[in-house]
Amino acid sequence: MNCSVEKLIKMKKLNEKIIFLFKNLIDGTGDAEEDIYNSLNDLLHEHGIFEENFMNLKRSEINNEYLTFIQIQMHINKKIIEQCKHEFVEDDIDISPDKSMKIVYCKICENNLDDCKK
Ligand SMILES: [Zn+2]
Repeated sequence: MNCSVEKLIKMKKLNEKIIFLFKNLIDGTGDAEEDIYNSLNDLLHEHGIFEENFMNLKRSEINNEYLTFIQIQMHINKKIIEQCKHEFVEDDIDISPDKSMKIVYCKICENNLDDCKK
């Protein structure tokens, strides 16, 4: 499979939302469960690669699905790091009111420099 970096980044962003919603289901946080399921199904249709309907997902299957998507995410990100023509920029992030830290990250794929070197 040969995907363009832009397509991979789009998949990564979509997956991030799916993972966030699964986390909400597991932790019992965020919107009402039915709303979360609806959002999940919408995202899966946007993905266009999953036929299954998450409305019928059993409670015991949620954890597995969550872990599967985390694995997919790691795989996608690995591909992005390999294929992106990184453009690194420097930025300061606040870690406390009077302390900040310099970070270097790619403005295309948003991975930080250390992760891209691995
Ligand atoms: Zn990059």
